[in-house]
Amino acid sequence: MRKIRSRIGICSVVLALFLAGILYLMNAYRRNASDWFLTSYNRHLYSSDYVLLTGTVVDRNGVTLSYVSDGTRLYNGDADIRKATLHVVGDPYNKIGTSTLATMRNDLVSFSAMQGIASVDEAGNTVVLTLDAKLTAAAYRALDGKNGTVCLYNYQTGEILAIVSTPTYDPMNIPEDLEDNRDYSGAYLNRFFSTTATPGSVMKPVILQAALETMQASDWDPAQTGPLADSIFNCKGTISFADGYVNCPKVHGKQSLTETLANSCNCAYASLAVTLGGETVSEFIQKCGLTKSYRVGNISTARGTFEITGIADYRLGYAGVGLYHDQVNPCSLLVYYGAIAGGGKAAVPNTVLEVRDSSGKTLRKPEAVMSDKLMEASTAEYLRKALSEDVRLTYGKDRFPCNIAAKSGTVSQSSGASNCWFAGFTTDPDMPYAFVVYIEHGGSGSRAAGDVAAALLRELVK
Ligand SMILES: [Zn+2]
Repeated sequence: MRKIRSRIGICSVVLALFLAGILYLMNAYRRNASDWFLTSYNRHLYSSDYVLLTGTVVDRNGVTLSYVSDGTRLYNGDADIRKATLHVVGDPYNKIGTSTLATMRNDLVSFSAMQGIASVDEAGNTVVLTLDAKLTAAAYRALDGKNGTVCLYNYQTGEILAIVSTPTYDPMNIPEDLEDNRDYSGAYLNRFFSTTATPGSVMKPVILQAALETMQASDWDPAQTGPLADSIFNCKGTISFADGYVNCPKVHGKQSLTETLANSCNCAYASLAVTLGGETVSEFIQKCGLTKSYRVGNISTARGTFEITGIADYRLGYAGVGLYHDQVNPCSLLVYYGAIAGGGKAAVPNTVLEVRDSSGKTLRKPEAVMSDKLMEASTAEYLRKALSEDVRLTYGKDRFPCNIAAKSGTVSQSSGASNCWFAGFTTDPDMPYAFVVYIEHGGSGSRAAGDVAAALLRELVK
């Protein structure tokens, strides 16, 4: 009898351990099924040859940009929209590593622990992008076949409404010579997030900020008194340093500080940079976020690089006008101009509005992330007015369909036309948008890049 009782006891313990194990397993399955399903071992269940065979991508207005039908990944019916949105949406084979299809697989695959693999269908979850497909296609057309990048975003929310990177291609008609033709070199890179380029004069507001926040008029010219904002600079067309000189395209003569920006006077900004000194210029380039990598969804932007400290005055002067070894990332430059518009801070750009399940229920909605304080509020106000004057005096207000403040940059190239920039923001109170245009071998920043910005803004105000 005692033996039977002892065996019942052992059986009970074994049964209890067994039931506890079952419960532990069920709980672990409930918590981790989705992660287990999405491991690379199971990739064949929702993709084929790396082509994701579930999930839909739409723009902010519900325009379908990419979807799956009959086991094939397809794209929007308009070729311009397909080419314009390629770098954010993604190519079928994941060659564009920063795209939505490449970085948001786990969001696009809809998996239910209850239904298991039967829950995976072609529609999957939907990623709603912040992009406006029509606006993005207009930006693509405005580039007119040239290589570069364009972005327009809301500096209060971070929502990118338009972003284009060229060279691009049609994901529904992938060119046979895509890998070999030099015209497609860099086509897998989203230049806005992943590249840097010489900024030229779009850097001048950074030097002006550093000067406004640290200098008095007498620091620049002992004969002058009062705040730096009241100082006068006399451009003689060239400024000499011990080891070289910096030129302006013409003699600008006597100018107010605001006019030095509108005239994009190289002599003034080389002189300011040298007066500030390498340590201070370097400190402000960092403060302005130009050496920072921003986190945009699942990707990190390229850091700008500068060689500022320990260099001779002539080189520092050149760095002060955005040349020498200065390299800036378009995204960090856009955030900087957004911060001028926003009073010192701006939202970090973002391409995702939300992720929805097949019933339309919101699964995830990224929150706006603000930049650090990139400048004092008083500096932002000064730069806003100076950049508005720049448009009035230099670029022409009539070229743009709304009030803007902006700065152009033109960087001469030894071969072909100059690389060029146009960066700025709208100043109408109900339009919190900042923009950046960069064109390789585009020509004049104020003309070529300014025209692309004007075309983009015309489509925006429609
Ligand atoms: Zn000058």
